[in-house]
Amino acid sequence: MDIPRIFNITESAHRIHNPFTPDKFTTLGAALRLESGARVLDLGSGSGEMLCTWARDHGIVGTGIDMSPLFTEQAKRRAEELGVAHQVTFIHDDATGYLSDEKTDVATCIGATWIGGGVAGTIELLARSLRAGGIILIGEPYWRQLPPTEEIAKGCLANSIAEFLTLPELIASFGNLGYDVVEMVLANQDGWDRYEAAKWLTMRRWLEANPDDELAEEVRSKLATEPERHVTYTREYLGWGVFALMPRLNLKRA
Ligand code: SAH
Repeated sequence: MDIPRIFNITESAHRIHNPFTPDKFTTLGAALRLESGARVLDLGSGSGEMLCTWARDHGIVGTGIDMSPLFTEQAKRRAEELGVAHQVTFIHDDATGYLSDEKTDVATCIGATWIGGGVAGTIELLARSLRAGGIILIGEPYWRQLPPTEEIAKGCLANSIAEFLTLPELIASFGNLGYDVVEMVLANQDGWDRYEAAKWLTMRRWLEANPDDELAEEVRSKLATEPERHVTYTREYLGWGVFALMPRLNLKRA
């Protein structure tokens, strides 16, 4: 079981597989006021940077599920490197429908909401593993500027303008699902560069090492076109953020 090989190639050197930089995860961890021993479940945990650094910095206990064997292996290595292998578990599996045995304090899906069939389905899935009073984290793109044409949306690698919301619409959509947005950390354009531009050198080095690979032509063409695509489209039009959600309270008045 694996994700399409192209991602394992282009993102093999990434620790974070989205437009967050390490300082953003630091800010988010502090913003959530994580307590030592708190349990965090992460669907689509990638190379494990969030869970491993929060285990080191806040003493959390984490479980991550990811479909890429390569990223899962990297996550386990990172846990060893940071001395937190006893606190975090990384499981190679499809996270579709995954429920934790024990209810978790924080349930997250950071940049992989297709796992639950979209934002609403993913929130519903995460909610089933969440303890009362726990926090759900959703990492999701939004339109920083609304693309004036469908062509521009496709340039951002979206299927259509309708695939993403503007930031006010995304925030409103959480409310419509019955959730309060209780915290938020947003990526910025420099973060997009770290995510996208880091693929370019990885592709270049991979091509030198694998000129005869069946994906070599695809990777060569990507390397030739991605920098311009990124600065024309993604960097300008797409935003990205992590949103912390808690179910709205019913206030019972005597
Ligand atoms: N949350 C991580 C990774 C985000 S990239 C981070 O912030 O760095 C999306 C991740 O989802 C990739 O690691 C990919 O391997 C994983 N993924 C894709 N489909 C999946 C599925 N069905 N189940 C579990 N993981 C999946």
